[in-house]
Amino acid sequence: MRYKINKILQEDGAESFPLTSDIKNRLNDIPVFTCRNQDDFPVDETDDMDKQTLRLIPFRGEFLKPCPGTNNYICCGYMILNIGTNCPLNCSYCILQAYFNKPSLRIFVNLEDELSKVATSIDKSPGKIFRIGTGEFTDSLALDDIHKFSDLITDFISTRKNTVIEYKTKTTEIKRLLNYKTRERVIVSWSLNSPYIATHEEHGAPSIEKRLIAAKACQDEGYITGFHFDPLITHDDWKEHYSETIDLMAKYLRPEKIIWISMGCMRFLPSLKKIILNRHPESIILNNEFVHGLDGKSRYFKPLRIEMYSFLGKLLKDWAGFDPGLYLCMESDEIWHKSLGWSPGNSEGLSNYLDNRVRLFWDTTLEKGE
Ligand code: SF4
Repeated sequence: MRYKINKILQEDGAESFPLTSDIKNRLNDIPVFTCRNQDDFPVDETDDMDKQTLRLIPFRGEFLKPCPGTNNYICCGYMILNIGTNCPLNCSYCILQAYFNKPSLRIFVNLEDELSKVATSIDKSPGKIFRIGTGEFTDSLALDDIHKFSDLITDFISTRKNTVIEYKTKTTEIKRLLNYKTRERVIVSWSLNSPYIATHEEHGAPSIEKRLIAAKACQDEGYITGFHFDPLITHDDWKEHYSETIDLMAKYLRPEKIIWISMGCMRFLPSLKKIILNRHPESIILNNEFVHGLDGKSRYFKPLRIEMYSFLGKLLKDWAGFDPGLYLCMESDEIWHKSLGWSPGNSEGLSNYLDNRVRLFWDTTLEKGE
């Protein structure tokens, strides 16, 4: 499925990159306007995030950066490859809504050039495992049909033996992935929630069942998969609703093909609250009490967070028959112990734990000659 684009804005400098002409050729029925910079073109007032405008940008910042995380909680040591920002879906809780000064779907057309610099920095540390994700500032696959960025990544990853790339998505845009031969260092991950939250809060996203059918197709084709229950959101009968998702996982997935499953409860910076109330007045995600966390974000109270993680963690372990790489996103040592019965202790410990999950999957894949 191609998401609807009604105009292309080509920023100064973008014209010299092959990706710009490739994208314009692929979308040859869409009008193209040139502009000097992001402030040079008015945003469509009927679409406040301008999600049907595609901006082609020569990005001047760093392409590979550590995930911002926070010093006050345990973080996973992830690296982010910045391929673009914003996404055609419209989740009520999306943090990117707070980036109103940078609307539109943004593709960084100098990615190909910049990837060689990223490769140089990775190759300097052959003993280190780089876990790299692309789904922090956009959905990794929603625009792949237009961008075809996975072509570049597949070439890049095929020669980087110390690196895994994780595509995080809510979509079913896997058709192109299934054509590639390089799979062993690629993790395809889905963001999951209860079917109720998916229907009411993840606007424009495929159902949970459709996501899991896509995940099954990837597993069947030899891809490692991951899952992220983030944000977990309390709602009426949330235990039953989240159990429905685990039942669907059991219907479609093989747990031994899952490298990790993260969980993170709903949290947000105060500036997002007003935006959610304005853009999604029907949303239920703010219908709860929140406490001010150590990182300045509003979060559920500890007992509720522990209850949600414990409940879902147990369901996932019971289904899998083992711990399928469960971890918590930005939580404290205390919450880890009370929810999962152990803790990596600190961010370095969590980073080591996830690196070891990667090694385990590499060993298994190599043993089977896959
Ligand atoms: S899929 Fe992710 S990036 Fe896209 S709107 Fe939803 S939360 Fe935001």
